[in-house]
Amino acid sequence: MTRNWRRATRLVHGGSERTPWGETSEALLLTSGFVYERAEIAEARFAGRAEGYTYSRLANPTVRMFERRMAQLEGSEEAAATASGMAALTAVLMASLCAGDRVVAARLLFGSTLWLLTELLPRFGVQVELVDATSEDAWARALERPARLVLFETPGNPTLEIVDIRTVAERAHAAGALVVVDNVLATPILQHPLEHGADVVVYSATKHIDGQGRCLGGVICCSESFRKDVLLPWLRHAGPVLSPFNAWVLLKGLETLELRVRRATATAETLARFLADHPRVEAVLYPGLAHHPGHDIARLQMEAPGPVLAFRTGGGKARAFEVLDRLRLFRISNNLGDAKSLATHPATTTHQRLSAEERAQLGITDDLIRLSVGLEDPEDLLEDLAEALR
Ligand SMILES: *Cc1c(COP(=O)(O)O)cnc(C)c1O
Repeated sequence: MTRNWRRATRLVHGGSERTPWGETSEALLLTSGFVYERAEIAEARFAGRAEGYTYSRLANPTVRMFERRMAQLEGSEEAAATASGMAALTAVLMASLCAGDRVVAARLLFGSTLWLLTELLPRFGVQVELVDATSEDAWARALERPARLVLFETPGNPTLEIVDIRTVAERAHAAGALVVVDNVLATPILQHPLEHGADVVVYSATKHIDGQGRCLGGVICCSESFRKDVLLPWLRHAGPVLSPFNAWVLLKGLETLELRVRRATATAETLARFLADHPRVEAVLYPGLAHHPGHDIARLQMEAPGPVLAFRTGGGKARAFEVLDRLRLFRISNNLGDAKSLATHPATTTHQRLSAEERAQLGITDDLIRLSVGLEDPEDLLEDLAEALR
């Protein structure tokens, strides 16, 4: 029955299960363990002969509701929740890779994801090759040889580069790889990577899914067999699971996700056009603008260009800092996906760990500012930018 519900309905009701009390809002089952009427019930649950909860590291009803709602939203068979977005990415990598495996990934990735790939995986004998993810030739060359896993973000953070999901997924599958997409910047509303050939979609639920800057969380949307056979052994024994409290906050976040994402995206489109016409702005990076190199692919694989954009102020770090410090409504932060609009200087915060050459190669210049657009009145945000740029 729930399968036929449309998206807005699934976001409000998907995965819900009521306790015998008949509560309207999802129950927050903040419990580490569960009790059994008789010893043989515990025995049967541990032996896998009976359904039922045992311990919240293994499964928890509130977390399960969040996972089911996410799977319904993403159109995946299943989902597995984790303590943060990084816990989700770590779980996917560690649970599916072995020594001797080869990974091909985009060069432009979230800073901590890059650390997992370039620092952690090589310690365990996994070989990692990074490519310019906007170049079809680069993917083709890297995937001439077999690979176990392919990973990329689209749009990429912070320069909003677009990766052609379908083309890369086809090449990756031909090389024998599992295709993993970090879909954070697109949000589960605006892009559905599974429909374009991806196998696994990963979210930092900390971002738009919570959407109000309250708690960390992560979620992996995948097939039933990937969850059961690959992820669950890792998650249950290693333990980077989502707290029931955070799962409850995220469930409530999902109820308003579509409204928030659509509103913030409409504002981002307005701000991108304003900045593109502004004489003191050197460049605007936003897939919604016709001159963006990924504009045509974005139109094919995204419903709308999303709530995050970036722009170059010109004048290096000094001018970027001046603009940031003059903003009043946009607050300086490294986070994104909040109801409050946030401005980031990637070169000195989220991407500080990279060398100057690596940043230059990725287009993360010293005058680049990333904006995560929130839910304020668009006119107030526009005035704030206009004042800061003056
Ligand atoms: C924030 C973010 C992550 C990490 O998520 P956390 O919840 O902070 O662990 C991974 N990928 C992208 C694209 C992000 O923006």
